Amino acid sequence: MNFELTLEQKEAKIRFRKFVDKYVVPNAAIYDRLEETPLELIKAMANEGYLSALIPSKYFAKAAESNNRDDRGENIDDDSCANISKEMDSLTWGLLCEEIGHASGSLVSLLTVHSMVIQALLKWGTEAQRSHWLPLLATGEVIGGFGLTEIKTGSDAKNAQTTAVQDGDSYIINGQKKWISFGQVARVFLILAQVDGKATAFLIEREREGFSTEPINGMLGFRSAMLATLNMNNCKIPASNMVGKIGFGFSHVAGTALDQGRYCIAWGCLGLAQGCVDTSLAYSTERKQFGVSLKEHQLIQELIADMITQTQAARMLCYNAAFLKENKDPSLIMETSMAKYFASRTALKVASDAVQIHGANGCSDRYPVERHFRDAKIMEIIEGSNQMQQIIISRYGYQRYLSSQSK
Ligand SMILES: Cc1cc2nc3c(=O)[nH]c(=O)nc-3n(C[C@H](O)[C@H](O)[C@H](O)COP(=O)(O)OP(=O)(O)OC[C@H]3O[C@@H](n4cnc5c(N)ncnc54)[C@H](O)[C@@H]3O)c2cc1C
Repeated sequence: MNFELTLEQKEAKIRFRKFVDKYVVPNAAIYDRLEETPLELIKAMANEGYLSALIPSKYFAKAAESNNRDDRGENIDDDSCANISKEMDSLTWGLLCEEIGHASGSLVSLLTVHSMVIQALLKWGTEAQRSHWLPLLATGEVIGGFGLTEIKTGSDAKNAQTTAVQDGDSYIINGQKKWISFGQVARVFLILAQVDGKATAFLIEREREGFSTEPINGMLGFRSAMLATLNMNNCKIPASNMVGKIGFGFSHVAGTALDQGRYCIAWGCLGLAQGCVDTSLAYSTERKQFGVSLKEHQLIQELIADMITQTQAARMLCYNAAFLKENKDPSLIMETSMAKYFASRTALKVASDAVQIHGANGCSDRYPVERHFRDAKIMEIIEGSNQMQQIIISRYGYQRYLSSQSK
């Protein structure tokens, strides 16, 4: 296993950091306060190719071409879509989530939910669904949302209470989804509903009659992730909107999406933790107490040493997951769970220590660590809470133990 970045990956990481420094760092606290992510920022990400990064080029070559033409069909000189060119490898995608996470947890969640819909379509969608949706998702014309959680079913998402009843060539959907990231702006949602008691996945377009959203404000963290409640009230959708088969919704379609989600969140947490380390190194160098820099105090050194070490350990788990993902190794799912579990715990611990090092300044929005601290707590809850990850990981440990005993 070689963890050294290729030249292309190193260059990509530098490009991501430049983007983040230009568009995210100066504004993340403002967007957090306003509880919104402006569409211009989403468009800028699309123009960099971040929203199309995991889509095979055959699905968006045409979209990129048409985006590069003006209304009269003539070529536009600026190369705003020039970066929409090819699928990113798993490690580069991880580096993108890391760099975005360095500045904003909310924005990581945009990459997360959007790519969850993409991955589910790539693996379980029909060719008609892929050719319709992927070009739109690639350019950011359509943002994808993921609707699993309900008021009464969170961790036990398989038992969602939303129903889908067949009516000729259509399904009638009734139910409500809660806490849906970017639900205020997403235009297509991958949701889970019960068809005769079997969990099944469907795509629902925002424009459908009987579909509406309500914004959710005042969250602890991910405040600019534009959460919404989705209401489906006799919402009629074509049967061709089903993704995968009846009964495949949780085990297969949501499973694929959640694996992708955990991968993004693990890397985002790594970035968040690294952001806290970097800010704390700078702050403890500048800030003086008792006549010397904070960094001269051994108890501060202890905090810094632990923050660096834990962040590096999270990085190794993320790199390992990237290596397995790139090689389509079946142990990827479990190793990604471990990466998400460890990286989110690390992010919260490191963010908490960063606030400590910053003292009262760390409790104010003049420094990013207070926002990172709030966002890090969310990371422990989403994409399967950390208790769910512990259950999955320990079950895996016992399975391995028992199979080694039976040999
Ligand atoms: C900012 C934010 C964004 C979100 N975005 C989305 C989104 O885009 N799409 C979406 O579908 N959902 C989204 N969610 C919802 C999220 O996925 C759920 O909050 C999560 O799955 C946990 O469900 P719950 O909140 O209902 O908690 P519950 O399931 O009620 O759990 C409460 C607590 O009990 C623990 N617990 C539950 N069952 C067990 C058990 N068997 N053993 C031990 N402990 C257990 C949990 O770990 C948790 O700590 C988002 C949530 C937040 C906060």
